[in-house]
Amino acid sequence: MSAIPYSEMIPYGRQTISEQDIAAVVDVLKSIWLTQGPSVERFEQAVADYVGARFGVATNSATSALHIACRAAGLGPGDILWTSPNTFVASANCGLYCGASVDFVDIDPHTYNMCAEKLEEKLVSAEKDGKLPKIVIPVHFAGQSCDMGRISALGKKYGFIIIEDASHAIGGSYKDTKVGSCTYSDMTVFSFHPVKIITTGEGGMVVTNDEQLHEKLVLLHSHGITRAPHLLQGESDGPWYYQQIDLGYNYRMTDIQAALGLSQLQRIDEFVQRRHYLAERYDRLLKDLPLDLPWQHPESYSAFHLYVICLKLEKIKKTHLQVFEELREAGIIVNLHYIPVYAHPYYQKMGFAKGYCPATEGYYARAISIPLYFGLSDEKQDRVVKLLTEILL
Ligand SMILES: *Cc1c(COP(=O)(O)O)cnc(C)c1O
Repeated sequence: MSAIPYSEMIPYGRQTISEQDIAAVVDVLKSIWLTQGPSVERFEQAVADYVGARFGVATNSATSALHIACRAAGLGPGDILWTSPNTFVASANCGLYCGASVDFVDIDPHTYNMCAEKLEEKLVSAEKDGKLPKIVIPVHFAGQSCDMGRISALGKKYGFIIIEDASHAIGGSYKDTKVGSCTYSDMTVFSFHPVKIITTGEGGMVVTNDEQLHEKLVLLHSHGITRAPHLLQGESDGPWYYQQIDLGYNYRMTDIQAALGLSQLQRIDEFVQRRHYLAERYDRLLKDLPLDLPWQHPESYSAFHLYVICLKLEKIKKTHLQVFEELREAGIIVNLHYIPVYAHPYYQKMGFAKGYCPATEGYYARAISIPLYFGLSDEKQDRVVKLLTEILL
């Protein structure tokens, strides 16, 4: 890998920053407000409007957004949270932050998303054992929405709260709704980390249509402190007065970040369209290789955060590791999303054994995320295709 200059390497994902983005950030730097100014509120409203939700609360990461979403939903010790094992650890850790216990529902082998049938089976037996989850977090893996119609119906039947982890999926849609409209959930979380669809450097957001959840999210992301007259207990002491009425955090986004986000949001559809163009090009150019290519549900329009190929190992004379290493040695900085969450030592200590979610483990043994981002040129994509062809045939 050291023989290849950095500029020649092709990462699996990266941000695109325009002169307009830079100017928007510089404007904030020259203004009075670096944080808690007007840009954050504008960004919250712009994202909410874009996805078709009523409220948005911007945070310093999706991890903190997931944490306050769980707190707002009332998750605490003795409660149970379920999510997908094929996700970044943050989708599960938010349950542990609240003192709840965490469990996993295996994935669908075609979409790599939480499987709605397996969710139902697990709910049936959890009900018998009196161990139903309070929260379920479906993760829209690679940008493709989960089967939210079915998950939402199960939520109504079994009484759990749904928080969509849409860290990969802003700009995508499901049926006739944008991901984030919360038509099938209580809250949706987005990430604006640089590898995601749009970026604020670090950053995240919770969107919801529920006024009470919104009020709690606002409190929790800023120390549990309020000046809102209807929330104060007793009389105000004067104009300086505020009260802490819950135990919150400093999870606020800065105006610098929000200005970048607002500027990026203007190009989101262009970003996602280019990702689709490149994904369709991969579909065409890789179709004769011994690979499973990303299957798309006809009712979903993915944001295509990732393009994941799964090796048909029985038809390849190399191991998963060999293919991965040969790509990296040639400067294609592929990645693997994800190590099953429960396979991490921290979760193993809780007693999750190997084999717990067989579909997830089968996927993990074959998956590779290959380069997909707005700035990936057709020529660079051709380099990836040529190399993959040489390695696999
Ligand atoms: C990136 C990501 C997160 C965490 O996002 P941050 O903004 O980095 O905290 C959570 N869940 C999923 C599925 C992610 O991909």
